[in-house]
Amino acid sequence: MTTLIEAQNLVRLYPGVRAVDGISFRVESGQCFGLLGPNGAGKTTTLEMLEGIQTPTSGHVRFKGQPLGRDYREVVGIQFQATALQDFQTVEESLAMFASLYRRTAEREELIRLCHLADILDRDTRKLSGGQRQRLLLAIALVNAPELVFLDEPTTGLDPQARRNFWGLIEQVRRRGTTVLLTTHYMEEAERLCDRVAIVDQGRIIAEGRPEELVREHFPSRIIRLPDSAWPADRPLPPDALERNGEIEFHAEEVTPMLAELERIGADLSGLRVATPNLEDLFLKLTGHALRT
Ligand code: ATP
Repeated sequence: MTTLIEAQNLVRLYPGVRAVDGISFRVESGQCFGLLGPNGAGKTTTLEMLEGIQTPTSGHVRFKGQPLGRDYREVVGIQFQATALQDFQTVEESLAMFASLYRRTAEREELIRLCHLADILDRDTRKLSGGQRQRLLLAIALVNAPELVFLDEPTTGLDPQARRNFWGLIEQVRRRGTTVLLTTHYMEEAERLCDRVAIVDQGRIIAEGRPEELVREHFPSRIIRLPDSAWPADRPLPPDALERNGEIEFHAEEVTPMLAELERIGADLSGLRVATPNLEDLFLKLTGHALRT
């Protein structure tokens, strides 16, 4: 694997805010890398420095080992969080307009097929549903057949079905060999799409790795949850138990002895749930607050 893009100790200050506070990571060619974190964590600012549209206060971005050059915009694609589309333009006209900005362009029919645009080519871009608009914005990001595509919270605001459909598209983009760098605050999205994630909070990376390895590294194998009311009133909670959302949470390597222990002390096990920890649980453990605020 070769490193396609690298962030080296990026810092971005705004008056009174350290938006990005020393972020470093590498993205290998062909990988899908995710920056995962809550609103305001610094994901967009980091992405914009990697896109070359914001200058870091300090630190560097390297693409194929070199500083970002003049041709960089020809080989990367960007799906911004919010992109203004030209009024009174159809989907087809919009695609053609963006294609005209580049020397190299993707094969038009293939792009239309990939992003499922065939049925809406004649539609005014103001009349698109959320999912259709995101598909068009993805096609625009891919219009120059980029080696690397940046997707800034591509599924925020989509309903669950449209979100899943969009994930399918991103998987196809990857299968064609395009490297993907995305930001998200949906841990399920990161778990499904990303080979590696960096979890960002308050401008810093607090954990980085393959999603399943990160979770395994930080957690015993299972989480056991009981409704608050199931705990015997006369017993203090053990110090390692966590109370949240009306439930008591225990972490256990082995489920069976833990269940036996809960039964012995008189807990009501009828509402018990056993869950496998995920990135959301990891985020809470590392930061003490929830990923989605
Ligand atoms: P979101 O998911 O809401 O987009 P984010 O993780 O992408 O959040 P950023 O948009 O990078 O976070 O913002 C990081 C911090 O920097 C926030 O505190 C934000 O208010 C601040 N910030 C971002 N842009 C500016 C700016 N142009 N001027 C001042 N502060 C800014």
